[in-house]
Amino acid sequence: MGLYAAAASVLAGVDSRQGSAKGLVYASGFQNVKQLYALVCETQRYSAVLDAVIASAGLLRAEKKLRPHLAKVLVYELLLGKGFRGGGGRWKSLLRRHQARLKAELARLKVRRGVSRNEDLVAAGGSQPGAASQVPRFVRVNTLKTHTEDAVDYFKRQGFSYQGRASGLDDLRTLQGKCFLLDSLLPELLVFPAHTDLHQHPLYQAGHLILQDKASCLPATLLAPPPGSHVIDACAAPGNKTSHLAALMKNQGKIFAFDHDAKRLASMGTLLARAGVSCCELAEKDFLTVSPSDERYQKVQYILLDPSCSGSGMVTRQLEQPGEGPPSKERLQALAGFQLRALCHALAFPALQRLVYSTCSLCQEENEDVVQAALEQSAGAFRLAPALPAWPQRGLSTFPEAHHCLRACPESTLTGGFFVAVFEREEVPR
Ligand code: SAM
Repeated sequence: MGLYAAAASVLAGVDSRQGSAKGLVYASGFQNVKQLYALVCETQRYSAVLDAVIASAGLLRAEKKLRPHLAKVLVYELLLGKGFRGGGGRWKSLLRRHQARLKAELARLKVRRGVSRNEDLVAAGGSQPGAASQVPRFVRVNTLKTHTEDAVDYFKRQGFSYQGRASGLDDLRTLQGKCFLLDSLLPELLVFPAHTDLHQHPLYQAGHLILQDKASCLPATLLAPPPGSHVIDACAAPGNKTSHLAALMKNQGKIFAFDHDAKRLASMGTLLARAGVSCCELAEKDFLTVSPSDERYQKVQYILLDPSCSGSGMVTRQLEQPGEGPPSKERLQALAGFQLRALCHALAFPALQRLVYSTCSLCQEENEDVVQAALEQSAGAFRLAPALPAWPQRGLSTFPEAHHCLRACPESTLTGGFFVAVFEREEVPR
């Protein structure tokens, strides 16, 4: 048996619980066990990536006789390994026919995940079930209803061990058991080990806690409207970011929150009531029909725009639909078209000083491309402000100021996949 067939057979054995990779490699009778073991381990390490690439390239649909484990090994060698070596027979030339498509799908995956190296596609330590399942449970303390210290004390009384404020991502990565921390960056964010379920917790039920991923707390934090200000939340439901804005504003001032989806708006009403938000006016409206010249919005200096997007960065999606291909070109085009229209519309509000644009997408088309086009259309009226310069992952360098944007993903920031850009009005020289 050749190297690739042997590796495929070991992988199939591991999947059907016949033994460990090491045991099956030694039992295979293959001459060069070291070489075989290395190939099996590397293919396993990239397993989720290979599944995604093979699925989106439609390889198994096109080559019905190609068995999935052999496909995985061969695609590993072709795209990520040292190129084809011994064995593989007729499949090698067949795979070469699919090479361009497979390479393109790998490149798209990297763009979606906001990484440039193959290595960054796998989680640290790297094997299944993947980085998405390692994202900690982040909990924002709703300061409209309680103090962070009181929430910390409550959990301590419940037997959780409090580890203090994290000094960096490593503290979050090693969090385990009935322990929790305060996030190193966001003052009101508690961090629990991944999979901690707090949906039935009395503090959550009473609106004292909001279960919100760290990345999704960045838009309101970066918009930072002071108490008393007038703010538009353009695409607001179900309202987590609106309630965060209200907390930062201490319920003083006004948030005009729009959403065109009546059902989502209804659950937003419940969420805001539970969170004690009283400074928000909800309206079932298409944001594109909200007139910037309407008198009611003449004092709006802050806008949060978190429009509908492909959701390609959502952790729940990555866990529930692992191998799901990227959104189609047509869908991305339609989404990006709306996102750009909404962004340019928002930039037309006369008193606007700062706007935060965010998505839970990893696709360049919905992120850097939209931001770049809006900057061009604003013809110098707005510039990008550096969004949390210390944040480790930056916008893809597709235009000169893109590094001012930030990106997030499970692998590099231990959060869901996210994108944020901060627009500020250029000061007009007097
Ligand atoms: N910011 C929200 C939060 O943090 O809870 C999430 C917003 S979600 C990503 C996008 C929302 O935009 C959806 O609720 C959708 O109904 C709304 N939306 C889409 N197109 C819209 C439009 N033209 N006008 C107003 N809302 C719109």
